[in-house]
Amino acid sequence: MSLFTAVEMAPRDPILGLNEQYAADTNPNKVNLGVGVYFDDNGKLPLLQCVQAAEKAMMDKPSARGYLPIDGIVAYDSAVKSLVFGEGSEPVTSGRVATVQAIGGTGGLKIGADFLKKVSPDAKVLISDPSWENHRALFTNAGFVVDTYAYYDAAKRGVNFEGMLASLKAAAPGTIVVLHACCHNPTGYDITPEQWDQVVAVVKAQGLTAFLDMAYQGFGHGIQEDGAVIQKFVAAGLNFFVSTSFSKSFSLYGERVGGLSVLCADKEEASRVLSQLKIVIRTNYSNPPTHGGAVVAAVLGNPELRALWEKELGEMRVRIKAMRQKLVDGLKAAGVQQDMSFITQQIGMFSYSGLSKDQMVRLRTEFGVYGTDTGRMCVAALNSKNIDYVCQSIAKVV
Ligand code: PLP
Repeated sequence: MSLFTAVEMAPRDPILGLNEQYAADTNPNKVNLGVGVYFDDNGKLPLLQCVQAAEKAMMDKPSARGYLPIDGIVAYDSAVKSLVFGEGSEPVTSGRVATVQAIGGTGGLKIGADFLKKVSPDAKVLISDPSWENHRALFTNAGFVVDTYAYYDAAKRGVNFEGMLASLKAAAPGTIVVLHACCHNPTGYDITPEQWDQVVAVVKAQGLTAFLDMAYQGFGHGIQEDGAVIQKFVAAGLNFFVSTSFSKSFSLYGERVGGLSVLCADKEEASRVLSQLKIVIRTNYSNPPTHGGAVVAAVLGNPELRALWEKELGEMRVRIKAMRQKLVDGLKAAGVQQDMSFITQQIGMFSYSGLSKDQMVRLRTEFGVYGTDTGRMCVAALNSKNIDYVCQSIAKVV
C-alpha cells in the first residue's frame, strides 16, 4: 500500500482541458476561443516591440541573477504603484500603499488571500456570479468560505445591478468582496462609472473589504479609464486590495508578472502590512523571479518604451473591438436571425455569447470551434482569417 493509495484524482481544469482537446483535434479549420489569450491577426501570440527593446537593452548589458528582495524589484513595485494609483497621487506620495511583486495576477490574489486569512480569519468571501473560475478555488484554498454576489442577468444580457447591490447590502461587515476592476471575466459586461459610485458607497456603508482584480487594464476603454475605479475607492477613504497582472497587457503570460497593492491608513501601517506580505511570500517561494519584472519595470520607467507600450496595447484593444463588430456583422450575414449586437456592448477579451452548453459542445465536436461550456468565447482570438468560419459554424448550431 502506497502513501498515496487514497489520493483522489482531482477534476481537470476546464480551460486547460479544452486546450488539450483542441491540440488533439485534427480539424484543419479548428479555432481555439477557449483560453483567455490575445492573438494577433495572424493568430500569433504577440511579442511586443516594447518588450523586445527592453530585452535587447538588457542583453547588451547582461547582468547576473542574484536573489531579488522578498517584495521584488524596487523600481517595479514603484511602477506598479504609480500605474494603479496614479503618478504623484496622494496614496503614492504619502507612502501608504504596500506593493509587492507577485507571480502573475494569480500570485497577487493568493498573497492577498493568505494575508487576509490572518487579518480576518472568519470573514466570508464574495465573488461575482459568475466569475473567473480560479477566484473561488483560490480563496477556498486560502481557507475562506466563498459565496457569490449577483452579477450576470442572462435574460437581460447584462448586469443584474439591483441584485448585485442587494447582495452587497446583505453582506456582513468585514466580508471580502472580489470585484473585477474592468473587463469582467467571463461575461464581458462591466458596470458603469455611476454604478461603481453606488458599489463604493455600499462597500463603505457596510464595512466590506474590497479586493479589486485588475487583470485587463488597458483592454477596456484605455489604461487611465480602466484604472479610474481605483480613484473612486481612494476618494471614499477606504482601505482595499488591488491585484495587478501584466500577463495580457504586456503579452508576457509565461513570465508570470503581477503584483499586489494594499492601500493602508498611513505610511506606518503600510510598513507593517508590507512586513506581513513579505512573510507570506518568504514562506511560499521566498522571492520572485527576475526577468519579467525587470522587463516591465524597464518599459514603464522609460518614457519612449512606455509610449510604445501604450500604443501597442491600444492596438490590441482596437483590434478586439473591431472583431466584436465583425462577429456581429458576420453572424447576421451567416443567417443568424437573433440580434447579436450585445456582443459590441461587452468589453475586454471575452464574450458571453448566450449559447447553451449543447450548442458549445456541437461547435467543438462538429466544427472544431472551442469555447467554454458556459458560452464564453475569447474575442481576442478571432482574426480576419478565422472569423467567417466561426460565424458560419455558430450559425449552424443556433
Ligand atoms: N484574474 C482574472 C479575472 C483573470 O482573468 C486572470 C487570467 O486569466 C487572472 C486574474 C490571472 O492572471 P495571471 O495569468 O497574471 O495570473
